[in-house]
Amino acid sequence: MGDLMGIGSENCLHLGGLRATTGSEFLCPACGARLGLEGVERWVREAEDARDESYALVEVDEFSEIVREERQREVYRRRKVLYELRSVPRGLSARPEMILVSYDPEGDAYDCRIFYKEPRPAGGLERVSVEANLDPILELKSHPDPNVRLASGKVEEFHALRQEGVREDQPPLLRRVFYSNEL
Ligand SMILES: [Zn+2]
Repeated sequence: MGDLMGIGSENCLHLGGLRATTGSEFLCPACGARLGLEGVERWVREAEDARDESYALVEVDEFSEIVREERQREVYRRRKVLYELRSVPRGLSARPEMILVSYDPEGDAYDCRIFYKEPRPAGGLERVSVEANLDPILELKSHPDPNVRLASGKVEEFHALRQEGVREDQPPLLRRVFYSNEL
């Protein structure tokens, strides 16, 4: 079987699911494989084929029953990933009107509120919380919702500003509003 994904991804089941990236590809955070929608569909079909193979066995014992069930579950899991990716609005989503980032000192986290012009995009998130650390903030940048990815850039900016303020002994920066001209 020709595999263009490279070594390392071949045996990965993409158990963490796939995430939308900025292009039209989906990324497995575990192995780094990037699949187009067709690649994801092929990945679903592979599970269906494996399941069908187990049903084609003539002799059925307890073990092969377990295998069948497992493979059926894998088909469902992959289909769910595919349906979720298909339902992500791509490209056409409305941009937010305003993003409010505030720092919660108690939880050492950022609370990010996304305000949309009406009508709000279907399924568009309005609130995201993220730990006040660069890694989790950067991880948000591969979120399937493009507006959450946009907001994560603003959280990153705010985080950098806040770090600077801490270094320069300024009064703590607690919130910042980003208006549409800054988004
Ligand atoms: Zn993977």
